[in-house]
Amino acid sequence: MTHSEESFKKIIAHAKEYGYIFPSSEIYDGLSAVYDYGPYGCELKNNIKDYWWKSMVRMHENIVGIDSAIFMHPTVWKASGHVDAFNDPLIDNKDSKKRYRADVLIEDYIQKIEDKIDKEVQKAAKRFDNFDESMYRQTNARVLGYQQKIDEIQSRFVSCMEKSDWEALKDLIDELGISCPVSGSKNWTEVRQFNLMFATQMGSVADGADTVYLRPETAQGIFVNFLNVQKTSRMKIPFGIAQIGKAFRNEIVARQFIFRMKEFEQMEMQFFVRPGEEIQWFEYWKSERIRWHESLGIEKAFFRFRDHEKMAHYANAATDIEFKFPFGFRELEGIHSRTDFDLKSHQQTSGKKLQYFDPETNESYVPYVVETSIGLDRMFLAIFSYAYTEETLEDNTVRTVLKIPPILAPVKLAILPLVRKDGMPEKAKEILKDLQYSFLCQYDEKDAIGRRYRRQDAIGTPYCVTVDNQTLEDNTVTIRERDSMKQERIAIENIENYLNTLLKIKI
Ligand code: ATP
Repeated sequence: MTHSEESFKKIIAHAKEYGYIFPSSEIYDGLSAVYDYGPYGCELKNNIKDYWWKSMVRMHENIVGIDSAIFMHPTVWKASGHVDAFNDPLIDNKDSKKRYRADVLIEDYIQKIEDKIDKEVQKAAKRFDNFDESMYRQTNARVLGYQQKIDEIQSRFVSCMEKSDWEALKDLIDELGISCPVSGSKNWTEVRQFNLMFATQMGSVADGADTVYLRPETAQGIFVNFLNVQKTSRMKIPFGIAQIGKAFRNEIVARQFIFRMKEFEQMEMQFFVRPGEEIQWFEYWKSERIRWHESLGIEKAFFRFRDHEKMAHYANAATDIEFKFPFGFRELEGIHSRTDFDLKSHQQTSGKKLQYFDPETNESYVPYVVETSIGLDRMFLAIFSYAYTEETLEDNTVRTVLKIPPILAPVKLAILPLVRKDGMPEKAKEILKDLQYSFLCQYDEKDAIGRRYRRQDAIGTPYCVTVDNQTLEDNTVTIRERDSMKQERIAIENIENYLNTLLKIKI
């Protein structure tokens, strides 16, 4: 097992042990790619939603929110192109009987070459002081060779995907000698196309039930409500509609924990603009969204943009914000300039006008759309995996701590009486009562204080206050900060302000 596989396993185990994430229906051996969020998990998830919602909706006067239904008229998915084109190319290994996404096999192959480039660069950096001309030339040649190989594969890959040429995709897999990670064999079936939408029946069979779909993205609920929202909230272009909600995809290749799920949540915002201004707004949202991620204090090196070479059928510009997950850089958020494809298509299919009258230009037009779409569960995994830290302390013990940004942490404050006597529990409970409406607080009196700190570190609680003898005399407590473990003394009446200042949104 590689170091990153091992640390990813630890992260998954920690998520379960501390009530963040459980496999769905675990007593029946689970359901592939479906997970449940436990007590701390649902708090973290709610806090991420809240942080996104506040920064998108509350902090932009021209963005409003909606909450549309999961079920939509089936024609929506015909008009959006999902019935005909929401497909993944699948391939089976005949020996292991495992099924893979053919495009992901190639992407993983490219990632491995990128890792080699990274290693060369790291090696060179380490030997920086005695790096002579010939070493430089050799390294450079190797890196260029790798890059050339990536470019060649990438261009063939893009062409296969654009033309849905599955035969050529299979040839590419054969030529690259990609083998099954389980059996190690290269004995592959042909590549087949598979639609990702879940279908179900609405109405009783006797009445002639209709096939409806569980929505594979939340965006269409925004498009079909475009005029309802624009008129009722008197929005002028440019303006946005935001939504957080469940989406469903029949992902056959289920791996990497909550990275790829069959039932997941999206936080999407569709921004409606004048035709011709979409690229400028696309650039604007690229920089806004990366700023949002960085506002959480995650190192910049954990993010990168990857512009799409193969554009979806509706887009004229697209990029992914990729995050460095424990298994490498992968898509966290998509930013797409979706043109007027969706609104126009719904207009044509429904026969209802979906146009905006622009009072500034005296023209009616179908607006263009720039979308930002982030998976809530992927954001959860990004935060959780980044936060998971094992630290060796001075006394050689190992402390496991979740360094979750305080604003997102499930429990904000633990209130701990030093001992279970002398009126300390009563005093601690008074503090709890006073603060628990404003913050999620936890009272804990069991075990020695050191163990209680460790427990709070492991669930990521950013602050602990301890009630001791002095508290009973002067109404002050010690407050301990999770990451530095530093403690200071503050008055009980100042705790709320202290926390409010530290937890303030800083975008
Ligand atoms: P991928 O290429 O990884 O399958 P995608 O390009 O199909 O993702 P989009 O359709 O752009 O994803 O969806 C927007 C966002 O929704 C993604 O950036 C991702 O964060 C999230 N997302 C998509 N599919 C899943 C899934 N199966 N499980 C969890 N999150 C997902």
